[in-house]
Amino acid sequence: MIYDLIIIGAGPAGQTAAIYASRARLAVLWLENRFVQGGQAKDSALMDNYPGLPGISGEALSEAFAAHAEKLGMTPVREKAVSITEAEGGLKKVCTKKAEYLSRTVIYAGGAVHRKLCIPGEEELSGAGVSYCATCDGAFFKDQDVAVVGGGNTACEEALFLSGICRKVYLIHRRDTFRADPILAEQTKKKDNIEILWNTVPEKICGTDAVEAVLLRSTKEEKEPFRLPVEGIFVAVGMEPESAILKELVRIDESGYVVAGESCETDCPGIYAAGDVRTKPLRQVITAAADGASAVASACRFLRRS
Ligand code: NAP
Repeated sequence: MIYDLIIIGAGPAGQTAAIYASRARLAVLWLENRFVQGGQAKDSALMDNYPGLPGISGEALSEAFAAHAEKLGMTPVREKAVSITEAEGGLKKVCTKKAEYLSRTVIYAGGAVHRKLCIPGEEELSGAGVSYCATCDGAFFKDQDVAVVGGGNTACEEALFLSGICRKVYLIHRRDTFRADPILAEQTKKKDNIEILWNTVPEKICGTDAVEAVLLRSTKEEKEPFRLPVEGIFVAVGMEPESAILKELVRIDESGYVVAGESCETDCPGIYAAGDVRTKPLRQVITAAADGASAVASACRFLRRS
Protein backbone atom coordinates (compact mmCIF):
# COMPACT_ATOMS: atom_id res chain seq x y z
CA MET A 1 0.00 0.00 0.00
CA ILE A 2 1.13 3.56 -0.68
CA TYR A 3 -0.07 6.10 1.88
CA ASP A 4 -0.88 9.71 1.09
CA LEU A 5 0.71 10.76 4.36
CA ILE A 6 2.77 9.30 7.18
CA ILE A 7 2.70 11.32 10.41
CA ILE A 8 5.54 10.69 12.84
CA GLY A 9 4.96 11.80 16.44
CA ALA A 10 1.90 12.14 18.66
CA GLY A 11 2.59 15.34 20.55
CA PRO A 12 0.22 18.27 19.90
CA ALA A 13 1.64 18.80 16.37
CA GLY A 14 1.24 15.15 15.37
CA GLN A 15 -2.18 14.88 17.04
CA THR A 16 -3.46 17.97 15.22
CA ALA A 17 -2.00 16.72 11.94
CA ALA A 18 -3.88 13.44 12.47
CA ILE A 19 -7.15 15.30 13.07
CA TYR A 20 -6.73 17.48 9.97
CA ALA A 21 -5.54 14.58 7.80
CA SER A 22 -8.58 12.51 8.75
CA ARG A 23 -10.89 15.39 7.90
CA ALA A 24 -9.05 15.76 4.55
CA ARG A 25 -9.81 12.05 3.92
CA LEU A 26 -6.15 11.17 3.32
CA ALA A 27 -4.85 7.61 3.54
CA VAL A 28 -2.73 8.05 6.67
CA LEU A 29 -0.31 6.01 8.73
CA TRP A 30 0.40 7.60 12.13
CA LEU A 31 3.47 6.42 14.03
CA GLU A 32 4.41 7.08 17.67
CA ASN A 33 6.86 5.05 19.70
CA ARG A 34 5.61 6.07 23.16
CA PHE A 35 2.67 4.44 24.93
CA VAL A 36 1.04 7.76 25.77
CA GLN A 37 0.26 10.62 23.40
CA GLY A 38 1.02 14.25 24.19
CA GLY A 39 4.82 14.59 24.00
CA GLN A 40 6.31 17.13 26.39
CA ALA A 41 2.93 18.85 26.77
CA LYS A 42 1.44 16.03 28.79
CA ASP A 43 4.09 16.58 31.51
CA SER A 44 2.96 20.11 32.23
CA ALA A 45 1.07 20.25 35.51
CA LEU A 46 -0.92 23.30 34.54
CA MET A 47 -1.26 24.60 31.00
CA ASP A 48 -3.24 27.76 31.72
CA ASN A 49 -2.20 29.49 28.48
CA TYR A 50 -4.19 27.39 26.04
CA PRO A 51 -7.06 29.64 24.96
CA GLY A 52 -10.49 28.72 26.22
CA LEU A 53 -9.28 26.07 28.68
CA PRO A 54 -7.78 27.95 31.64
CA GLY A 55 -6.44 25.67 34.36
CA ILE A 56 -6.32 22.53 32.24
CA SER A 57 -3.41 20.17 32.89
CA GLY A 58 -1.09 19.15 30.06
CA GLU A 59 -2.24 15.59 30.57
CA ALA A 60 -5.94 16.48 30.26
CA LEU A 61 -5.29 18.63 27.18
CA SER A 62 -3.28 15.82 25.56
CA GLU A 63 -6.05 13.35 26.34
CA ALA A 64 -8.61 15.71 24.80
CA PHE A 65 -6.50 15.95 21.61
CA ALA A 66 -6.14 12.14 21.58
CA ALA A 67 -9.89 11.63 22.07
CA HIS A 68 -10.63 14.07 19.24
CA ALA A 69 -8.27 12.19 16.91
CA GLU A 70 -9.72 8.85 17.96
CA LYS A 71 -13.25 10.07 17.27
CA LEU A 72 -12.09 10.66 13.71
CA GLY A 73 -10.66 7.14 13.51
CA MET A 74 -7.05 8.13 14.19
CA THR A 75 -4.96 6.09 16.62
CA PRO A 76 -1.18 5.95 16.32
CA VAL A 77 0.58 2.70 15.52
CA ARG A 78 3.15 2.15 18.27
CA GLU A 79 6.31 1.81 16.22
CA LYS A 80 9.47 3.88 16.29
CA ALA A 81 10.44 5.41 12.95
CA VAL A 82 14.18 4.81 12.49
CA SER A 83 14.76 6.19 9.00
CA ILE A 84 13.14 8.33 6.32
CA THR A 85 14.55 8.10 2.80
CA GLU A 86 13.51 8.97 -0.73
CA ALA A 87 12.21 6.11 -2.84
CA GLU A 88 11.45 5.71 -6.53
CA GLY A 89 8.71 7.78 -8.11
CA GLY A 90 9.07 10.65 -5.64
CA LEU A 91 7.83 8.46 -2.79
CA LYS A 92 9.21 8.50 0.77
CA LYS A 93 10.16 5.34 2.61
CA VAL A 94 9.73 5.28 6.38
CA CYS A 95 11.34 2.33 8.15
CA THR A 96 10.52 1.20 11.67
CA LYS A 97 12.13 -1.72 13.44
CA LYS A 98 9.19 -3.86 12.31
CA ALA A 99 8.35 -2.75 8.76
CA GLU A 100 8.90 -0.43 5.80
CA TYR A 101 6.18 1.94 4.65
CA LEU A 102 5.81 4.00 1.46
CA SER A 103 4.07 7.35 1.31
CA ARG A 104 3.70 10.36 -0.95
CA THR A 105 4.27 12.78 1.93
CA VAL A 106 5.62 12.74 5.50
CA ILE A 107 4.93 15.09 8.41
CA TYR A 108 7.71 14.79 10.98
CA ALA A 109 6.67 15.98 14.44
CA GLY A 110 9.36 14.34 16.56
CA GLY A 111 9.65 17.27 18.98
CA ALA A 112 12.58 18.47 21.05
CA VAL A 113 13.69 17.55 24.51
CA HIS A 114 14.97 19.89 27.21
CA ARG A 115 18.67 19.47 27.79
CA LYS A 116 19.28 18.11 31.26
CA LEU A 117 21.86 19.23 33.82
CA CYS A 118 22.57 15.60 34.69
CA ILE A 119 23.25 16.31 38.35
CA PRO A 120 22.04 14.45 41.47
CA GLY A 121 18.50 15.36 42.48
CA GLU A 122 17.44 16.57 39.02
CA GLU A 123 15.57 13.47 37.93
CA GLU A 124 14.35 12.54 41.42
CA LEU A 125 12.79 15.98 42.02
CA SER A 126 11.53 16.57 38.49
CA GLY A 127 7.92 17.76 38.87
CA ALA A 128 8.55 18.38 42.60
CA GLY A 129 10.31 21.72 42.19
CA VAL A 130 12.53 20.96 39.21
CA SER A 131 10.95 22.33 36.05
CA TYR A 132 11.94 22.95 32.44
CA CYS A 133 9.19 25.46 31.66
CA ALA A 134 8.51 28.65 33.62
CA THR A 135 5.40 29.52 31.63
CA CYS A 136 3.98 26.08 32.45
CA ASP A 137 4.94 25.83 36.13
CA GLY A 138 5.91 29.33 37.33
CA ALA A 139 2.52 29.99 38.92
CA PHE A 140 3.19 27.24 41.48
CA PHE A 141 6.01 29.35 42.94
CA LYS A 142 4.10 32.54 43.69
CA ASP A 143 5.97 34.66 46.27
CA GLN A 144 8.63 31.96 46.68
CA ASP A 145 12.37 31.95 45.93
CA VAL A 146 13.49 30.11 42.81
CA ALA A 147 16.59 29.60 40.70
CA VAL A 148 16.95 29.58 36.92
CA VAL A 149 19.98 27.87 35.35
CA GLY A 150 21.37 29.04 31.99
CA GLY A 151 22.58 32.17 30.25
CA GLY A 152 20.73 32.10 26.94
CA ASN A 153 17.55 33.74 25.72
CA THR A 154 15.38 31.10 27.35
CA ALA A 155 17.04 31.50 30.76
CA CYS A 156 16.65 35.31 30.66
CA GLU A 157 13.05 35.08 29.46
CA GLU A 158 12.23 32.54 32.16
CA ALA A 159 13.91 34.65 34.85
CA LEU A 160 12.00 37.76 33.71
CA PHE A 161 8.72 35.85 33.62
CA LEU A 162 9.32 34.39 37.08
CA SER A 163 10.35 37.77 38.51
CA GLY A 164 6.73 38.84 38.08
CA ILE A 165 5.48 35.91 40.14
CA CYS A 166 8.20 34.95 42.60
CA ARG A 167 9.71 36.85 45.51
CA LYS A 168 13.28 36.34 44.35
CA VAL A 169 14.85 34.78 41.28
CA TYR A 170 18.49 33.65 41.28
CA LEU A 171 19.90 33.32 37.77
CA ILE A 172 22.78 30.86 37.79
CA HIS A 173 25.13 31.09 34.81
CA ARG A 174 28.41 29.28 34.28
CA ARG A 175 30.20 32.24 32.65
CA ASP A 176 30.39 36.00 33.30
CA THR A 177 28.57 37.10 30.15
CA PHE A 178 25.18 36.13 28.82
CA ARG A 179 24.65 34.26 25.59
CA ALA A 180 21.22 35.91 25.47
CA ASP A 181 20.46 38.82 23.15
CA PRO A 182 21.72 42.10 24.68
CA ILE A 183 18.23 43.54 25.10
CA LEU A 184 17.10 40.55 27.13
CA ALA A 185 20.35 40.55 29.09
CA GLU A 186 19.87 44.26 29.93
CA GLN A 187 16.28 43.75 31.05
CA THR A 188 17.36 40.83 33.23
CA LYS A 189 20.18 42.78 34.87
CA LYS A 190 17.84 45.68 35.64
CA LYS A 191 15.23 43.66 37.51
CA ASP A 192 15.36 44.30 41.25
CA ASN A 193 14.33 40.82 42.30
CA ILE A 194 16.68 38.96 39.93
CA GLU A 195 20.12 38.24 41.36
CA ILE A 196 22.65 36.91 38.86
CA LEU A 197 25.17 34.42 40.17
CA TRP A 198 27.95 34.56 37.55
CA ASN A 199 30.56 31.84 37.09
CA THR A 200 28.45 29.40 39.01
CA VAL A 201 27.08 25.96 38.30
CA PRO A 202 24.67 23.77 40.22
CA GLU A 203 26.20 20.57 41.53
CA LYS A 204 23.27 19.00 43.30
CA ILE A 205 19.57 19.68 43.84
CA CYS A 206 18.65 19.01 47.45
CA GLY A 207 15.33 17.96 48.97
CA THR A 208 13.41 14.86 50.01
CA ASP A 209 9.87 15.21 48.63
CA ALA A 210 10.36 18.66 47.10
CA VAL A 211 13.23 20.99 46.22
CA GLU A 212 14.67 22.67 49.31
CA ALA A 213 17.98 24.04 48.04
CA VAL A 214 20.58 23.88 45.32
CA LEU A 215 24.26 23.25 45.94
CA LEU A 216 26.37 25.65 43.88
CA ARG A 217 30.00 25.66 42.87
CA SER A 218 32.13 28.47 41.46
CA THR A 219 33.62 27.83 38.01
CA LYS A 220 36.40 30.40 38.73
CA GLU A 221 37.51 29.99 42.32
CA GLU A 222 38.54 26.97 44.35
CA LYS A 223 35.93 27.34 47.06
CA GLU A 224 33.67 24.96 48.94
CA PRO A 225 30.26 24.53 47.25
CA PHE A 226 27.56 26.62 48.92
CA ARG A 227 23.92 25.86 49.59
CA LEU A 228 21.27 28.23 48.22
CA PRO A 229 17.78 27.67 49.68
CA VAL A 230 15.14 27.76 46.92
CA GLU A 231 11.74 26.17 46.42
CA GLY A 232 12.02 25.75 42.69
CA ILE A 233 14.71 25.34 40.07
CA PHE A 234 14.10 26.05 36.40
CA VAL A 235 16.56 24.43 34.02
CA ALA A 236 17.02 26.47 30.81
CA VAL A 237 20.26 25.15 29.36
CA GLY A 238 19.03 24.65 25.81
CA MET A 239 16.94 22.21 23.83
CA GLU A 240 17.85 19.16 21.87
CA PRO A 241 15.61 18.73 18.84
CA GLU A 242 14.97 15.16 17.83
CA SER A 243 15.94 15.78 14.22
CA ALA A 244 18.64 13.14 13.62
CA ILE A 245 16.30 11.03 11.48
CA LEU A 246 16.04 13.84 8.91
CA LYS A 247 19.63 15.03 8.82
CA GLU A 248 20.52 13.39 5.46
CA LEU A 249 17.32 14.59 3.80
CA VAL A 250 16.56 18.18 4.78
CA ARG A 251 18.31 21.33 5.93
CA ILE A 252 18.95 21.43 9.68
CA ASP A 253 20.14 24.64 11.37
CA GLU A 254 23.20 24.96 13.59
CA SER A 255 21.11 24.21 16.71
CA GLY A 256 19.67 21.04 15.20
CA TYR A 257 16.21 22.36 14.25
CA VAL A 258 14.67 21.45 10.88
CA VAL A 259 14.59 24.57 8.73
CA ALA A 260 10.97 25.21 7.74
CA GLY A 261 8.69 28.24 7.74
CA GLU A 262 5.04 28.66 8.72
CA SER A 263 3.94 26.28 5.94
CA CYS A 264 6.16 23.62 7.56
CA GLU A 265 7.71 22.80 4.16
CA THR A 266 11.30 21.62 4.34
CA ASP A 267 13.70 21.86 1.42
CA CYS A 268 12.75 18.29 0.46
CA PRO A 269 9.40 18.38 -1.40
CA GLY A 270 6.75 16.31 0.36
CA ILE A 271 8.50 16.35 3.76
CA TYR A 272 7.12 18.68 6.44
CA ALA A 273 8.40 19.52 9.92
CA ALA A 274 5.82 20.43 12.55
CA GLY A 275 6.03 21.46 16.19
CA ASP A 276 9.10 21.90 18.38
CA VAL A 277 11.49 20.29 15.89
CA ARG A 278 10.94 23.17 13.43
CA THR A 279 12.79 26.49 13.40
CA LYS A 280 10.39 28.91 15.13
CA PRO A 281 10.41 31.61 17.79
CA LEU A 282 7.78 30.19 20.17
CA ARG A 283 7.56 26.56 21.17
CA GLN A 284 4.24 25.93 22.88
CA VAL A 285 1.20 23.67 22.43
CA ILE A 286 -0.66 26.36 20.53
CA THR A 287 2.10 26.83 17.95
CA ALA A 288 2.64 23.07 17.67
CA ALA A 289 -1.07 22.53 17.01
CA ALA A 290 -1.00 25.32 14.41
CA ASP A 291 1.91 23.58 12.70
CA GLY A 292 0.01 20.30 12.57
CA ALA A 293 -2.83 22.02 10.71
CA SER A 294 -0.49 23.99 8.39
CA ALA A 295 1.58 20.91 7.56
CA VAL A 296 -1.52 18.96 6.48
CA ALA A 297 -2.67 21.90 4.33
CA SER A 298 0.78 21.95 2.69
CA ALA A 299 0.74 18.18 2.17
CA CYS A 300 -2.72 18.41 0.55
CA ARG A 301 -1.47 21.13 -1.83
CA PHE A 302 1.51 18.92 -2.72
CA LEU A 303 -0.73 15.86 -3.30
CA ARG A 304 -3.03 17.87 -5.57
CA ARG A 305 -0.05 18.97 -7.68
CA SER A 306 1.68 15.58 -7.94
P1 NAP B 1 21.05 28.32 24.32
O1 NAP B 1 21.03 29.58 23.54
O2 NAP B 1 21.75 27.14 23.75
O3 NAP B 1 21.65 28.67 25.75
C1 NAP B 1 21.85 27.67 26.69
C2 NAP B 1 22.51 28.30 27.90
O4 NAP B 1 22.68 27.29 28.87
C3 NAP B 1 23.90 28.88 27.59
O5 NAP B 1 24.05 30.09 28.29
C4 NAP B 1 24.84 27.81 28.11
O6 NAP B 1 26.03 28.36 28.65
C5 NAP B 1 24.05 27.21 29.25
N1 NAP B 1 24.37 25.80 29.45
C6 NAP B 1 24.35 24.81 28.52
N2 NAP B 1 24.63 23.63 29.11
C7 NAP B 1 24.83 23.91 30.42
C8 NAP B 1 25.14 23.09 31.55
N3 NAP B 1 25.31 21.78 31.44
N4 NAP B 1 25.28 23.69 32.76
C9 NAP B 1 25.09 25.03 32.89
N5 NAP B 1 24.78 25.85 31.86
C10 NAP B 1 24.66 25.28 30.64
O7 NAP B 1 19.58 27.77 24.65
P2 NAP B 1 18.21 28.56 24.80
O8 NAP B 1 18.37 29.75 25.65
O9 NAP B 1 17.21 27.54 25.19
O10 NAP B 1 17.90 29.02 23.33
C11 NAP B 1 17.82 28.05 22.25
C12 NAP B 1 17.64 28.79 20.95
O11 NAP B 1 16.36 29.39 20.94
C13 NAP B 1 18.64 29.91 20.75
O12 NAP B 1 18.94 30.01 19.41
C14 NAP B 1 17.91 31.12 21.23
O13 NAP B 1 18.37 32.32 20.68
C15 NAP B 1 16.50 30.79 20.79
N6 NAP B 1 15.55 31.50 21.61
C16 NAP B 1 15.17 32.72 21.21
C17 NAP B 1 14.30 33.45 21.96
C18 NAP B 1 13.90 34.78 21.50
O14 NAP B 1 14.41 35.23 20.49
N7 NAP B 1 12.98 35.45 22.18
C19 NAP B 1 13.81 32.95 23.15
C20 NAP B 1 14.23 31.71 23.56
C21 NAP B 1 15.12 30.98 22.78
P3 NAP B 1 27.14 29.04 27.69
O15 NAP B 1 26.58 30.36 27.32
O16 NAP B 1 28.33 29.09 28.57
O17 NAP B 1 27.28 28.10 26.52
